[in-house]
Amino acid sequence: MKEKINRIIRIIEKQIGKTKPVVSFSSKYKTIITTVLSARTKDETTFKVSKKLFSKYKSFRELAKAKTEDIEKQIYPVGFYKTKAKNIKKLAEIIVKKYNSKVPSNFKELITLPGVGRKTANIVLSLCFKKPTIAVDTHVHRISNRIGVVKTKKPEQTEKELKNKIDKKHWIKINELFVKFGQRICKPLRPNCKICKIKKYCNFYLNDLKADANS
Ligand code: SF4
Repeated sequence: MKEKINRIIRIIEKQIGKTKPVVSFSSKYKTIITTVLSARTKDETTFKVSKKLFSKYKSFRELAKAKTEDIEKQIYPVGFYKTKAKNIKKLAEIIVKKYNSKVPSNFKELITLPGVGRKTANIVLSLCFKKPTIAVDTHVHRISNRIGVVKTKKPEQTEKELKNKIDKKHWIKINELFVKFGQRICKPLRPNCKICKIKKYCNFYLNDLKADANS
C-alpha cells in the first residue's frame, strides 16, 4: 500500500504541476487568520476577504483592538462571518497577551485558540513552521476515501491512516496537492475520471467500471 500511495502522489504531482499555496503564507499572522476564515468558504471568497481584512489590520495587535462589528464588515461574505469575526478577534487577543504576538508552534497550544481545529493547526504547523504533518480537509478526506487508500468516516481517522501509509517526506505537500486535485479533477460532485491519471489505482473508478460491465 505504501508503495502504491507514494506512486499515486507522484502521478498527481505530475498531472497538477507546480501549485501555488492554498492560503497566503507570507506571514504567520496571515496564514492562521486566512485558514480560520477559509472554513466552509470558497477559496476565491476567502482570498478576496482576507486581502481586504489585512489591508486594514496589519498585525495581531491591530486585529485585537478592532471592534467585532468592524471585523464582521471586513470579512462578510465568508461563511459564519459573525462567529469567525468573534473568533479571530479573540485569537488575536490571546496571541498578543499570552504569546507576545507570536503564533505558537505546537499542536496542543494551537488547538486551544478560538476557531482553530486540527486542520487549521496542521496547516499552520506545516506552512509556518515546516513541521511534517498532514492537514486533512474535505478534499483530502474525500479523495483518500474515493481512491480507497483509506476507509474512514472522520477526517481525524483519515489523518491517522494517511500518516501510517505515506512517507513522511510527502506529508507537508498532501493538503495543497489534494486540494488542487479536488478542485480541478476529482471534484466533489462530478469527478473528471476521463482525464484522471490515477484511475487505474482508484476504487471509485474501478467499481464504476465493474458496475457498467454488470449492467
Ligand atoms: S478516477 Fe475519478 S474518482 Fe478516482 S481519483 Fe480520479 S477523478 Fe477521482
